Amino acid sequence: MRARAALVPLMVLILTAGCVVEEPLDDDGGPGPAPTATEVSADADGTDSPEEFTRDIEAAQEVAEEYWGQRLGAGFSPVRQLIAYEQEGDVACAQEPLPRNNAVYCSAGDFIAYDVNWAYAAFRQIGDAFLFYLLGHEYAHGIQARLGIRKQFTIEQELQADCMAGAFIGDKAREGRLRMQDDDTRELADGLEAVGDQPGQPWFAEGSHGTAEQRMDAFAGGYQNSLESCGL
Ligand SMILES: [Zn+2]
Repeated sequence: MRARAALVPLMVLILTAGCVVEEPLDDDGGPGPAPTATEVSADADGTDSPEEFTRDIEAAQEVAEEYWGQRLGAGFSPVRQLIAYEQEGDVACAQEPLPRNNAVYCSAGDFIAYDVNWAYAAFRQIGDAFLFYLLGHEYAHGIQARLGIRKQFTIEQELQADCMAGAFIGDKAREGRLRMQDDDTRELADGLEAVGDQPGQPWFAEGSHGTAEQRMDAFAGGYQNSLESCGL
């Protein structure tokens, strides 16, 4: 249940949704100050700084926890830990060292781990929406674990996670918690060629995530129609 390096081009699909801006929470409690709305523009100075990256990661985690807490109620517990790593083997999941250029939800330890340099590069290249997608996808694996969902094939598990990530972002946008802006869909079209599994990858293979079109459809279904699209 890992997001392989092929996830990087997948992030292009997020560009259909444009930029993600986290809206401040109302003053209804919660620890710490309400997060500030984050203006996002790929071209603006300072929006791809390491500090902005860290803020966006934290915001994505916070909004994901909020979302699934609302959805699952008492059945929800947050994913235990979010771990950034830099080198292969810095973090292991069930004794298996995590490689570079990857992000993973590890059910054995109930944590999400990501190669911070890889994620930061993608963030700079694609934008902050990448981080919301990435966290949304890996968090969805954590939710699958909580719900006891184990599909027969990897691709089913992965496409459902894409759908759940779409639902997370779409629902939070509808709620006004995330502010989405339409963006150039041509970038998506251009990127679609690079998205998803390579042609010839058997769909039933261990590690298959789906073709570009399948992943796009899964994400878009959740984004537009919420969790019902994901079979939840
Ligand atoms: Zn995955």
